This record gives sequence, C-alpha cells and structure tokens, in this order.
Amino acid sequence: MKERLYLFDTTLRDGAQTNGVDFTLADKVAIAQMLDAFGLDYIEGGYPGANPTDTQLFSEPRKLDARFTAFGMTRRPGRSLSNDPGIAALLEAEADAICFVAKAWDYHVRVALETTPEENLASIRDSVRAAKAKGREVLVDCEHFFDGYKASADYALACARAAYEEGARWVVLCDTNGGTLPHEVEAIVGEVAQKIPGDHIGIHAHNDTEQAVANSLAAVRAGARQIQGTINGLGERCGNANLVSIIPTLKLKPEFAEKFEIGISDAKLRNLAHLSHALDEMLNRAPDRHAPYVGTSAFATKAGIHASAIVKEPATYEHVDPETVGNRRRLLVSDQSGRSNLLAELERIGIAVEKEDPRLVRLLDEVKEREALGYAYEAADASFELLARRTLGAVPDYFNVERFDVNVEQRYNAVGRRVTVSMAVVKVKVGNETLISAAEGDGPVHALDLALRKDLGKYQQYIEGLDLTDYRVRILNAGTEAVTRVLIESQDETGERWTTVGVSSNIIDASFQALMDSIVYKLVRSGAPA
Ligand SMILES: [Zn+2]
Repeated sequence: MKERLYLFDTTLRDGAQTNGVDFTLADKVAIAQMLDAFGLDYIEGGYPGANPTDTQLFSEPRKLDARFTAFGMTRRPGRSLSNDPGIAALLEAEADAICFVAKAWDYHVRVALETTPEENLASIRDSVRAAKAKGREVLVDCEHFFDGYKASADYALACARAAYEEGARWVVLCDTNGGTLPHEVEAIVGEVAQKIPGDHIGIHAHNDTEQAVANSLAAVRAGARQIQGTINGLGERCGNANLVSIIPTLKLKPEFAEKFEIGISDAKLRNLAHLSHALDEMLNRAPDRHAPYVGTSAFATKAGIHASAIVKEPATYEHVDPETVGNRRRLLVSDQSGRSNLLAELERIGIAVEKEDPRLVRLLDEVKEREALGYAYEAADASFELLARRTLGAVPDYFNVERFDVNVEQRYNAVGRRVTVSMAVVKVKVGNETLISAAEGDGPVHALDLALRKDLGKYQQYIEGLDLTDYRVRILNAGTEAVTRVLIESQDETGERWTTVGVSSNIIDASFQALMDSIVYKLVRSGAPA
C-alpha cells in the first residue's frame, strides 16, 4: 500500500506575488480550470477581501474537483471573531477549504503583531474553530516556521499544535524567506512529525537559495505529506517550490514513486510540458528552455558521439523518458553533428531517406556552411526542417515576395511628443495573382510582419491562426563582418510552437527571412496545396 501525498497549488495566490504578474479574474478562472484538469488536490485561488479580483473570484462556487482554497489571516489580536472583517470575508468565501496564515516565530509575534504569545495561540485556535464550524476544511500556514523553530522550538511547536489540536486538517510549515537548507528542513520536520502526525504536515518552501524543490522533497522524506508550490516556480523574489519539477520527481524517481502516490495519473503527467508552457503563454513569457523535465533543452544532445549512442540506447544518456512528461528527445543539428544525428532528426520529422542517399551529405554540408554564416539550426527547428525538405524533397513555391519596402519615420505628434512610426508595403505574387498590402506597425519588423501576413490570397486561410510569440536578435561576428541573427518563435491555433532563423548584415532582411520561413513552415504543416 502506497501512502498518499497531496499537492497544493498556490500559483494564483503566492504565485500572483511575482514581479510583473497580474492575473485578471478571467485568467484566474482559466488557470484554476487548467490546474484542476491536471489533477492537483488543492488550488489556492487568492485572498478574498484583500482585493476586488479575489473577492469576486470567491463570490460564486467554482465547481472544481480540487479543493478550492481561500487564503487569509488568522483573527487579529485583541479583536473578537465577529469583529474581524478579514475573518468575515474568509468565512463568506465560496471555498472548500480555508488556509489561514499564522505567525509561528515568537519574535514576529512580539515585534510585527505587537501581541503576546498566548494571544497569538488563541487567535490560531479561534480561527480554526470558526472555519470548521462553517464546514470548511482548514489549513494553517505557519509563517517563518523554520526560523521560528531555530529561535524557539517550543513556541513554534505550540503554534503548530494549537492548529492541529483544534482540528486543522493540515499544519503547513513555511520557509517564508526561503533561507533554510535541505538538511535543516529534514531534521526539523522530523522533529515536528514526532508531535504531529506526518499525514497532517505540509511544506511550503521558497526558492531563495534555489533549494525549494530539494526542501520540499526533504520534508517528505521526514514525514510531511502535503507539498505546496506553484507552476513554473512562480512567486515573489526567487519564487516558490516548482511543482513542475516536483511532480515528475515524485512520479518517476523510485525512492518516491515506490512509496507514494499522488493524484496525477501517468496520462496526466504527459500533459506536464503543455501545462507549463500554457501558463507562460498566458503570462506572455517565453518558456525557459533549460527548465528541468519540460524545457526544450531538457533532453537535447549536441555532440555527435553522444547522439549516436542515444539513438541506440536512450536510457544511457537520459535520466527519464522525455515522453513521460510530454517532452521529446532533441538531437541538435549543428555543425558538430554527424550523420546519425541528422538521420534521427529526419526520421522524427517524418522525412524518409536512405542511409546512403548522397543528398544527405549535401544537406550536412549545407547545414555546416550556413552555420558558419551565423544560422543557428539547433535553435531553429522549423528552419532546419524547411532546409531539409528543400534539399531532400520539395517545398512548393507557395508565393513569391517580389518586393517590399519598409520605412521608419520620426516626427512630433499633436502634443509635441516625439514618436516613431513604421510602414511596410509588400508586393506578393500568388499564382497569377499580384497582391499589394500595406501596414503600419510599432517598428519596422512589426510593420513588415503585418503587411506580409495581411493578404496571401488563397493561402490566407492557412495562416490565420499564426502568431509571433518571441523575437530575439543577436549581433554575431561571422567571418570578417558583423551580421545580425534573428530568431522568431511562432505558434498556431493548435498551440504548436516553432522557431525560425534569418541572418543578414541588415536586421530587416534577417527578420524577413525568419518571417518567411515561419509562414512557409505553417503552410507545409497545414498541408496547403502547391
Ligand atoms: Zn509563500
């Protein structure tokens, strides 16, 4: 019999503290549904009463399988329950569970709360009792628990026990400033677990020494059975424990997998990479390429000798099978790559070619030559695929850009402020049809992109769902002169993402090449007729 571990997501509450993150009500509802579909046990939505968005979020039932949790403070010292508007907002919230945050460090009780240790304990007990009387499941986040425990173990424990003895389902030990190290967490949680059963203990770790994931796992080893964290490690300062790294570790590493089960099935785990990227998308952030398990580089191999071994026996180089978390193996095609690398990549993208086909040598030479010019095919998967298809088979000439013209104008507007505006005009030939489109944009590349995608005649329907999601520029020294490399990341209506590359001494031209590759790639993928 495996023990059950519970996962508590606080992306919408603690994660909302991230610099630059501002969830709307619609965002919160959509993210809660995404998290619920993934199989998390608890979803903390926010702090009703603290701001209009969260108050509205908890104004109606959200109908989730997960326990939808409202967060707030314990009763204020010196007040009665009925005279505390914060408590009233929490008890009125349409939530399955209430998570109270309570002080657990005697120093904070005296200095921040300006009250007595006894009154703080009474406030914890009163708050738990009131929420239970309302039929809610209760959690108590013991703030600064580890620092408090080091300063005064008796008092920190007294706070935790007050919550537990009053009937809180979970007593959550928080490393609020993220400064505790894994061996300390393991030792302290182990001691707490002798006073409070481990299946009532949770861990809430912050990432200030980059050990929030390690601290969470250390707590589980010592007896804790609930883990709090956020998707992609969102959270203030350096973030919270990253559930995207914790979940696959619990599911795939024998030490945890053999002992514990979580509410996320193997099938759901295969949506992990998608979940992680979908949240980035909503926040308009480019996904971290180097993110463990889900990053595009997490299972990428470059060197030729490793690559041929990986094709023969992936387990020799990969710590888990990338498919289990919805990622995939990437054999980077670059000037270091050998033929086996290239063959494996072609097979993956569905291009059949014989091992001895002479065109293979031509493609490899082409890749090497172009990389010497500054093209980066290991980053630009879609441009590589087009190059391969062009060399080995055929990519239809869907359309031809006969000319384009982009200008940048600086002027002063009606109120005397300096503004720059760009306009692009593009002349495209599609079949026998000549189309001319013009567009204004924030900058020359934006204007060019808009004009290029404004009217592609019979192909327009295939690119309606195309969106540019990231644009990166680097100045390189290739040979004797400086050139500009542009990488463009695109996405379509199905959520598929791809990257294209352009290189030129002119940034507009480099951008144009990458834009063209992106559009042509989309047409190929959509099966647009020649
Ligand atoms: Zn926190």
